[in-house]
Amino acid sequence: MSDGVVSLTSCNTPLLQPVWDGIREHAGARAAPLWGACVAFSAHVLLSALFLGLDALGPRAPWIRRYRMHGKPISLRAWLRCLARISWKYALCVLPVSACMGYAQTRRSAAQRERAAAPSLLVACSECLSCLLVFDTFFFVVHYTVHRNPWLFKIFHQSHHVNTHPFALMALDSSMVELASQQVLAMWSTMVVGCHPVSEILFHLLNIWLAVEDHCGYDFPWALHRILPCFGGAPFHQAHHQRVTGNYAPYFKHWDLIFGTAINM
Ligand SMILES: [Zn+2]
Ligand SMILES: [Zn+2]
Repeated sequence: MSDGVVSLTSCNTPLLQPVWDGIREHAGARAAPLWGACVAFSAHVLLSALFLGLDALGPRAPWIRRYRMHGKPISLRAWLRCLARISWKYALCVLPVSACMGYAQTRRSAAQRERAAAPSLLVACSECLSCLLVFDTFFFVVHYTVHRNPWLFKIFHQSHHVNTHPFALMALDSSMVELASQQVLAMWSTMVVGCHPVSEILFHLLNIWLAVEDHCGYDFPWALHRILPCFGGAPFHQAHHQRVTGNYAPYFKHWDLIFGTAINM
């Protein structure tokens, strides 16, 4: 039995073992409380800049325009204004909250780094999917609640609904309380699943990409929701921004279908 486990692990570990070894080698930097928040913010801005580039190419490339879900792309000036807005919110709220969470997690992180083996690809993918499902559930409950309560909506969520036509960067254009709560929900999701640190990093990266994709304003044939119809993708979330109701789950469709809150564009 144990031989079977060893051989299965040894078949799967080479793929992720170098990643895990690299993380353990740089454990000091990884454990820094602000590390995760800074990397997440930079990744989000870089991915959003890719879609800003597509907007700029649009006038000269009709094939790109064909996949845009709404007319006029965001101007560079408005994009930079949004960047300035989310930067100071991050500096004032998200980074301090991340620092507090980081210190609270220090003991847990140290224990996790004791693990010598990386997870197999199958385990990493299943843990990452579990984290996404848990995060999606937490987000659905919070999002539904703030939309049903006008007072909560005003102080907590209204700033995210200023634009009816989303663009990638505005995934982070929310109130400071909402930005911080999303950080906390993501961390809770990994704690509920109890996943390996490699799976946790994969989840955070996928979470960033899906948030960008939800708001990107493009419906490409290779988007995740086209490959896996259980995901709502950009059309699903754009309908939420246009109607300011329904489609409360960020990524998957099942909660909105179960509770009768699913809407089309
Ligand atoms: Zn949104
Ligand atoms: Zn909303």
